[in-house]
Amino acid sequence: MFTEDQVERYARNILLPGVGGAGQERLARSRVLVIGAGGLGSPAAYYLAAAGVGTIGIVDDDAVEISNLQRQILHATRDIGRPKAVSAGEKLKSLNPDCDVVTHHLRLTADNIAGITAAYQVIVDGTDNFPSRRLINEVCVRQGKPLVHGGVLQFVGQALTILPGRGPCLACIFPEPPGSLPTCAQAGILGAVAGVIGAIQANEALKLLLGLGELLVGRLLSFDALRMRFAEVAVSRDPDCPVCGKPG
Ligand SMILES: [Zn+2]
Repeated sequence: MFTEDQVERYARNILLPGVGGAGQERLARSRVLVIGAGGLGSPAAYYLAAAGVGTIGIVDDDAVEISNLQRQILHATRDIGRPKAVSAGEKLKSLNPDCDVVTHHLRLTADNIAGITAAYQVIVDGTDNFPSRRLINEVCVRQGKPLVHGGVLQFVGQALTILPGRGPCLACIFPEPPGSLPTCAQAGILGAVAGVIGAIQANEALKLLLGLGELLVGRLLSFDALRMRFAEVAVSRDPDCPVCGKPG
């Protein structure tokens, strides 16, 4: 049951077809893990907290640097040098005190990841490197957890939602690390591009939690900011996928 303030806070959600009070209560009971409090994780977590997601976990082992502030909108100039997970947690709490924020100030490894993801319903991947994405994809497939992938570089981005068993996983599509792809630190990133993709990730997570609409399952969405075009490519499961393919 919501207080009067909460009913006002979430009034624009509650008005939405398919959401209503029941959907809002569903959000209040839901748990989302956002991995990486950077360019993607910042907008994604901010919209999830604003929407009234009850518990948001934030994983990040980095400290805020001045070069992050161009796109990582959860952090402010005064946060430089502070742990990103803590800085992000404070901003989410100040936006929405209803939101229970769990900060995981650590680096995800093959040893600790399963224990962390197990406590959440939906995982939002805001990391920026292939080894982390591969690890997150593997544990989500193993645990049957919905995973919302996002990636950005320079003026382009992409997003995909992975429902283990019901569509391709990341390894079906990208079995090998992309050869010589530079990182955002090497090649740059327009901050607003990360904002677009992070907001798409939040949208996908909210649709998953509310059981609404069509998810980005089996279709890789790409965004080109210079041409201002979205495109999608149909992607399917690889029966021989080393992560989600049939054993043997
Ligand atoms: Zn797969």
